[in-house]
Amino acid sequence: MFILEENKMTEIQYQRILKVRKEYDVLVAGAGPAGICAAVAAAREDVTVALIERYGVLGGNLTVGFVGPILGIVGSGTMRDELVQLLGVPENDMLGWKGKKHDVEQAKIALEELVDQESNIDVYLQSMVSDVIMEQERIRGLVISGNEEPYILGGKIVIDATGDANVCVHAGCEIEKGREDGLMQPVSLEFTVDGVDEKKGVICVGDIDPVKLDGIRFLDYCKQCADQGLLPKTLAAVRLHPTVYSGERQVNTTQENGVDVTKTEQIFRADVALRKQIRTLVQFFRNHLPGYENCKCIASGDTTGIRESRRVIGDYVITAEELAAGKRFKDAIVHKAEFIVDIHNPSGAGQAEETIQYCKPYDLPYRCFIPKGIANLYTAGRCISGTHRAHASYRVMSICMAMGEAVGVAAALCAKKNCDTRKLQISELQETLCRKGIDLFSA
Ligand SMILES: Cc1cc2nc3c(=O)[nH]c(=O)nc-3n(C[C@H](O)[C@H](O)[C@H](O)COP(=O)(O)OP(=O)(O)OC[C@H]3O[C@@H](n4cnc5c(N)ncnc54)[C@H](O)[C@@H]3O)c2cc1C
Repeated sequence: MFILEENKMTEIQYQRILKVRKEYDVLVAGAGPAGICAAVAAAREDVTVALIERYGVLGGNLTVGFVGPILGIVGSGTMRDELVQLLGVPENDMLGWKGKKHDVEQAKIALEELVDQESNIDVYLQSMVSDVIMEQERIRGLVISGNEEPYILGGKIVIDATGDANVCVHAGCEIEKGREDGLMQPVSLEFTVDGVDEKKGVICVGDIDPVKLDGIRFLDYCKQCADQGLLPKTLAAVRLHPTVYSGERQVNTTQENGVDVTKTEQIFRADVALRKQIRTLVQFFRNHLPGYENCKCIASGDTTGIRESRRVIGDYVITAEELAAGKRFKDAIVHKAEFIVDIHNPSGAGQAEETIQYCKPYDLPYRCFIPKGIANLYTAGRCISGTHRAHASYRVMSICMAMGEAVGVAAALCAKKNCDTRKLQISELQETLCRKGIDLFSA
């Protein structure tokens, strides 16, 4: 508690004494696809790990965000292979075409069991990293706020896998958001409908899907409906993925533009708008899509899905041009990553770019994971160092899982050697990853 001496509430200098609860080798903030893989990979290298997650369940967008199917390709042997097996979608074509959405309820327990198997991981759920304790250019600890008095967890190496770069912000790292005009990809709420007649109900997995309905391209049909006022124009890109269950579709169609999720006051308004859109879309499906007459929404994200927020400027900033060319790097720690540059339009409907940019299988170099100016901090997942367009490719979950694993191993090696991230021998990291069966160098 802090008591004001004068009746003024503008800016307050606030002091309190916090206890250091425990010290770890590696602190992982955020338990989405990247954070879970980072924590498990570090623990498998025999170091102590704290995994800190603000929600009451593991998974990030994979569970509470209700996002799927798991998209993107990476070289063989990464934890992505283990996770898709665990989540019951090993046969997914990871470029997305006809990949099935996993069962989110199963995923919640499967991910908890995965982490629980590692006796050297302590999991802090319902625990928010709310600040950092700095000692010159090192983070010495994270301030954790939850259902009790705030406290500190100490760590040798910290991994920011919060998606929104929340640790990096507290540490004063250089950040970018969105494209040149500052606009970011829209937020969305994915949802599932069931009751779809599989014999008639269309599947449409994205903006380049040529699937037809009654002889015309399905997405053109949806545009025509929007022109006739049957559907809001911003919702005309109707993406209907199959799930692991017959009669279900995973709908990735709602969108709210102009939302900056790093400004908390914008989130509730966006959430209300998105939930209303679910109602509108289900009504549209029932009235205008053959096979969907009896469909109903059975589940949706527990939280607004964030495609894009902060990107942390690291020792290297990767560009979409490098991804498109399939550039190889000597310090690659993720290899043969592949996905299109998928920019949901920050200022309107559909895709931002008329022509979809395809990428050759590309590398992600170690330097993209090291925020400038901090000695013992990594990023993993969608907040790593890349441009707005590059982020639109590597943000998919398969690639985030591989990033998390690579950075988790790197953090463990640093912790064991008591060295900073920039002092780690890249060759040693790469050898360790290859020994685990990860492909880093194949042509
Ligand atoms: C609507 C939508 C559709 C998408 N569609 C697909 C798709 O079909 N396929 C695909 O592969 N990808 C898709 N993506 C992209 C993908 O889901 C994300 O880019 C990916 O999940 C990023 O993983 P991450 O681990 O970096 O972050 P996240 O999944 O965002 O996880 C970050 C975690 O950190 C936690 N956290 C944040 N701040 C704190 C804090 N201060 N303290 C403690 N914990 C914190 C969060 O609660 C969360 O659990 C989609 C994204 C959205 C939003």
